[in-house]
Amino acid sequence: MPDSAEPAPLHGIGVSPGVAGGPVLRVAGVPALPAPAPVTDPAAEAGRAVAALREVVAELHRRAGRSGEKTLVDVLRAQAMMAEDPLLLEAVREKVLAGSDGPHAIDAAFATHRAAFEAAGGYLAERVADLDDLRDRAVAVCLGRPMPGVPSPGHRYVLTAWDLAPADTVDLDPEQVVALVTESGGPTSHTAILARALGLPAVVACPGARDLADGTTVLVDGATGLVRVDVDPVEVTAAETADREHRTAVAAISGPGRTSDGRPVALLANIGSARDLAAADGAEGVGLFRTELLFLDRSREPELAEQAEAYREVFAALAGRRVVIRTLDAGADKPLPFLHQADEPNPALGVRGLRLVRQRPELLRTQLAAIARAAEQTGAEVWVMAPMVATRAEAAEFADAVHAAGLPKAGVMVEVPAAALRAGQLLEVVDFLSIGTNDLSQYTFAADRQSGLLAELLDPWQPALLRLIAEVGTAGRAAGKPVGVCGEAAADPLLAPVLVGLGMTSLSMSGRALGPVRAALAARSSADCARLARLALDADDAQRARKAVA
Ligand code: PEP
Ligand code: MG
Repeated sequence: MPDSAEPAPLHGIGVSPGVAGGPVLRVAGVPALPAPAPVTDPAAEAGRAVAALREVVAELHRRAGRSGEKTLVDVLRAQAMMAEDPLLLEAVREKVLAGSDGPHAIDAAFATHRAAFEAAGGYLAERVADLDDLRDRAVAVCLGRPMPGVPSPGHRYVLTAWDLAPADTVDLDPEQVVALVTESGGPTSHTAILARALGLPAVVACPGARDLADGTTVLVDGATGLVRVDVDPVEVTAAETADREHRTAVAAISGPGRTSDGRPVALLANIGSARDLAAADGAEGVGLFRTELLFLDRSREPELAEQAEAYREVFAALAGRRVVIRTLDAGADKPLPFLHQADEPNPALGVRGLRLVRQRPELLRTQLAAIARAAEQTGAEVWVMAPMVATRAEAAEFADAVHAAGLPKAGVMVEVPAAALRAGQLLEVVDFLSIGTNDLSQYTFAADRQSGLLAELLDPWQPALLRLIAEVGTAGRAAGKPVGVCGEAAADPLLAPVLVGLGMTSLSMSGRALGPVRAALAARSSADCARLARLALDADDAQRARKAVA
C-alpha cells in the first residue's frame, strides 16, 4: 500500500478487475502540422506524400491481418479502401505540384474530401472520423513520426489514453500492455469491454491519467479504480503475484457469504433491471434494485401495469431469495422530465428521493401497488426501501405506506449523515437499514459525488464515513435488525471485512465484485473483522486506513 512519500493516487472507475503495474506509455498523439516548407523537387515530394498514404494502407492491412475479430477486420479494410481512393491520391499529387509540401498537401486534400463526405450526409458523413484518422496517420508518416495510436515498445507497460477507439485496439498486444487507464469512458465504454475481453485490469474516468509522464511506474487496481503513482517496481511485482494467488483462491470459493468462523454476511447484487441478473449469478439475492431506470427519459409516468411487469420479471427470477427494491430515487442527477420539477439552486440538497414522493404521494402509492402486485405473483422475499431519508418521522411515514400496500418489510437507506446519527431511532420504525455510501460520502464531505477533483474526499476509506457506518452497525446490533451497505464501498474486497467488523450483516454490489468479496470474508474471522474495523476507524486519513488494514 502507498507510503506517505508517494504522490496522491489517481482514482477512477475500476471496470475490469485485477492488479498490474509497470511504466506508463501514452497512446501516441496526433502530430501538429509544422509551418509550410519550401519544396525544391515537387515530383519527389509528391512521391513522398503518396508513399505515406500507401504506408498507412499497408499498416491497416497488417492490423486487419492480426485481428481475429471479423467486424474489426471489415472496419479496417474499409478504412484502407478510403485511403486508396484514386481521387484522393490525385488530389495530394496536384497540391504538391501546385507548391505545397507533402504534409500540407495531405492535410488539404483530406479537407476537401472531408467536406464532400459531410455534404453527402448519411453513411458518408459518419465516416469523417475515419478520414481524420487516416489524415493524421499519413501526416505523421510524412513527417517521419510514429503513427498515432498504441505504442509497441517491446516491453510490458501500462497504456494510458483519453479513451480507446476500436481502431486502436487491434494494435493492443496483451503481452506488452498489462493494464489500461483512461481519462474518459465509463463502465460500458469500448475500453471497458475490451479490457474485460482480454482480462486486463482497467480503470476508466480517471482524472489525471493523461498527465502521467511516459515511464512513470504505476500500479493499477481494476477492481477499486485506484491507480498508485511512482511505485517501487519490486512492490509492483509483489502486488501482481498476490493478485494471481488471490484469483486462484477466489475461484475455489463458492456458496453464501461467511467469515472463517461461520458468521453469515449476505452477499447481494445491485441491479437496475432484469438484464443485470445474469451478472449477479452467485448472489444470495438482490440488495439494491434501482427502479428509477424504468422512469428515466419518459414523458409520462409508467402505468401501474407496466411497472408491475418490470418488477415481476425480477422477482420471478429470484423466487425464494431476498430482493430489496428501492422506490423511486429521482431528482438531482436523475431528473424526470414528466415531473416538471422547479429549478433548484442546489438540486443535490433539494427535493430528491423520498422528499420528492412525499410531495407527490400518488407516485409512491402507484409504485408500491405495482410492487405488491408483482410480489403476490412470485415467490421472492420482497423488502422495500426508500432513498434519501433524513428523519425518524420520514422513515415512519414510509413504513406505514409500505405496510398499507400489503408489503411486510420496510426499510430505509442511510445516505444522509442525520440518518446515520439517528440510526437507532430509525430502527424503531423500520425493519432494516441499507447504507448508500455513494451519497453518504457526498453529504458527509459536502463533495459532489460526480466531481473527479474531489475524489479523495469521496474515498470510502475516509474514517469519518466509517464512523457513521459504525453508528449504523451499533444500532443494528442493539435492535437485532439487518443493516447493510449497498453503495460502491461494498465492492472493495479489502474494505468488506472492515464493514463486517463495523456491524454490517449484508453487502450488496455489482455482480462482478461478489467473488473477491466472498473470498475476503472467508479468509477472516469475526474477531479479525472487528480488529480491522478498529484500525481503520482509528486511522488519521483514508490512505492510512487502507494501509493499516492491508
Ligand atoms: C448510494 O448512494 O450509495 C446508492 C447506493 O444509491 P445511488 O448510487 O443509486 O444514489
Ligand atoms: Mg444514493
